[in-house]
Amino acid sequence: MYYYPINEIFQTIQGEGYYSGTPSIFIRLQGCPVHCKWCDTKYTWTCNNKDKISNKEMITKKKKDKKWSYMNLKEILLLLKTKKWTARHIVITGGEPCLYNLLEITTELEKKGYRCQIETSGTKLIICSIKTWITLSPKKHQKTLDTSILRSNEIKYPILKEEDLLYLENILKKIENKKKHHIFLQPISQNKNAIKICIKQCIIKNWRLSIQIHKYIKIQ
Ligand code: SF4
Repeated sequence: MYYYPINEIFQTIQGEGYYSGTPSIFIRLQGCPVHCKWCDTKYTWTCNNKDKISNKEMITKKKKDKKWSYMNLKEILLLLKTKKWTARHIVITGGEPCLYNLLEITTELEKKGYRCQIETSGTKLIICSIKTWITLSPKKHQKTLDTSILRSNEIKYPILKEEDLLYLENILKKIENKKKHHIFLQPISQNKNAIKICIKQCIIKNWRLSIQIHKYIKIQ
C-alpha cells in the first residue's frame, strides 16, 4: 500500500474549472519541482523529513505551512468516514500530485463511489485510474508532456499577459479531437488586465472563464 505525503485534507467547494461550485474534498500532496513565480501554494514545494508531522497534527493544523504527514489509502478512507464529509468529489492536488503513483488511491476511491479529479501541471507522467478527471494546467516555463495533454479532460490555463496565449495555442495543436476538451482561461492572482484578456479571448474562442471563486468568497 502506497504512502502519500499529505499537506492538508479538507472539505470545501471547488472554485476553479469544470467542477467549479462542486462540494469537494481536497487532498493536497506535498512536493512540487515546477516552481511557478505566481504559485499560491509555495509551502508545498519542499518535502523534507524535518517537516514531517503526525497525521493528527496535519489534519488539525490551522495555518498553511510546509508541514506534511504520510497517509496510506486505509488511513485516508478512515478519515473520510470519521469526518462524515458529504462531498462525493475528491480533488487530488498539490504541489504536483503526479510526482506520485495515483493509481491505487484513485481506483479505490472510485470503487467507493467517489469521483476523482487530479489537478496537474502535466510535467510528470500521470498514473491514475482511467475514470479519473484530469485537469491540466500547463506552465510555459516547463515542458508539458504530450501524454498529459492527450490524457487531460480539461485544460485550465493561467494567464497574466497576452503572450501567454501562444503557449496554449501550441498545446492545442497537439489535440486532434478538440471537442472532447474543455478549455478554461484563468487570470493569475485576480489581475485586472489578465481578467480582461481572458474574457476577450474566451468570447473569441468560445472557451470558458475560470475565476477561482474561492478567492473571491474567501473560503479555503
Ligand atoms: S505547478 Fe502548481 S504547485 Fe507547483 S509551483 Fe506551479 S502553481 Fe505551484
